[in-house]
Amino acid sequence: MNHTQSHDLFTRALELIPGGVNSPVRAFKSVGGEPFFAQRAEGAYLQDVDGNRYIDYVGSWGPMIAGHAHPKVLAAVEKTMRDGLSFGVPNALEVTMAEAITAIVPSCEMVRMVNSGTEATLSAIRVARGATGRNRIVKFEGCYHGHGDSFLVKAGSGVMTLGLPNSPGVPSALADLTMTIAYNDFDAATNLFDEIGGEIAGLIIEPIVGNANCILPRDGYLQHLRELCTKHGALLIFDEVMTGFRVALGGAQQRYGITPDLSTFGKIIGGGMPVGAYGGRRDLMAQVAPSGPIYQAGTLSGNPVAMAAGLATLELIQAPGFHDALERTTNVLCDGLEQAAREAGIAFHTTRAPGMFGLYFREGPVETFEDAKASDTARFNRFFHAMLERGVYLAPSAFEAGFVSSAHGEAEIARTIEAARESFATL
Ligand code: PMP
Repeated sequence: MNHTQSHDLFTRALELIPGGVNSPVRAFKSVGGEPFFAQRAEGAYLQDVDGNRYIDYVGSWGPMIAGHAHPKVLAAVEKTMRDGLSFGVPNALEVTMAEAITAIVPSCEMVRMVNSGTEATLSAIRVARGATGRNRIVKFEGCYHGHGDSFLVKAGSGVMTLGLPNSPGVPSALADLTMTIAYNDFDAATNLFDEIGGEIAGLIIEPIVGNANCILPRDGYLQHLRELCTKHGALLIFDEVMTGFRVALGGAQQRYGITPDLSTFGKIIGGGMPVGAYGGRRDLMAQVAPSGPIYQAGTLSGNPVAMAAGLATLELIQAPGFHDALERTTNVLCDGLEQAAREAGIAFHTTRAPGMFGLYFREGPVETFEDAKASDTARFNRFFHAMLERGVYLAPSAFEAGFVSSAHGEAEIARTIEAARESFATL
């Protein structure tokens, strides 16, 4: 594959943009090599500026659940943008979006739109702190909730990939208020709450951890956390920026039958435009300004074009059988990859939820952050590049979940498995 144009762009970018990228994990730091620059995307495919085409399993890190450049999403954006890009006064699409989210996710009785997942999570913990009058929050090792100060403590995603789980610039006075425990460890949670439960404002969790590869909750684990929070008067916050509208229409909370107090969203509800949202119990959300004293605001929040893209995407994923088909595609892909690895005699394991998956170069099961970290990352990196050369783009890190969309059809999955068969043989 020729990468001349991408290389030239990256050289220019490195001079002016930290690491040449506007978000760290795009930089291929852990897998090595240089990122390619996108020219366009359609359906399951990304095309780079040198004309190379890839089957894309990143999907812009989650939003593109209906495939890239879906005609219905583009049509909604085109129609809406002709009336203006931003108004700074309320618009009808914001109301429609609030109605859509609260109808799909019953735990969200009220919702506030923001511009990213980061804004959603940092607003949600502000509500948790403001409403409870407590300062401590609990998070899980390997979970990523955006780059807000309180969350860059033993975080996942890019910070983990780069080996920087705690960031300079975060005052220890703030970081010290973030308690971290091991995901899927029942006793760790019980013990922490027994010790300081009365000081905990909220517990925030990725119900399925998609930022330390892909780790599923053990049976009863999320229910256990629900009960602990209720018992100790702490708020349970589901960060569904990744899982929301993906692992089921109503997200992980629907899939596992848990009612959180607050939830955060992003990615899919923007359909590829910059969007986040947080919502939850009416008595909590009513405390947000201007109906209450907890302050949170945004010049571009509820942007009409972003609402239009998100609403069009939400309409597409409400088609009958949408998530069942996504689950089938995910299973065929993961089963095929495991079979190809077995044939090649490679220790390999997958985890999956509808529309998202984890790849591990180790035997299963993988149920904890420690299990996930024990994957052979050097091997993953070689596999990543072997797949890329064969026109398959996986997340450029051993610690990021992969995504499939409704545009990934039988042909794309078959080609991916064939590429994996060849790639495993080179390891
Ligand atoms: N929470 C989760 C679970 C995420 O996966 C992400 C981003 N991948 C975020 C929060 C932050 O979202 P954003 O990058 O839009 O700020």
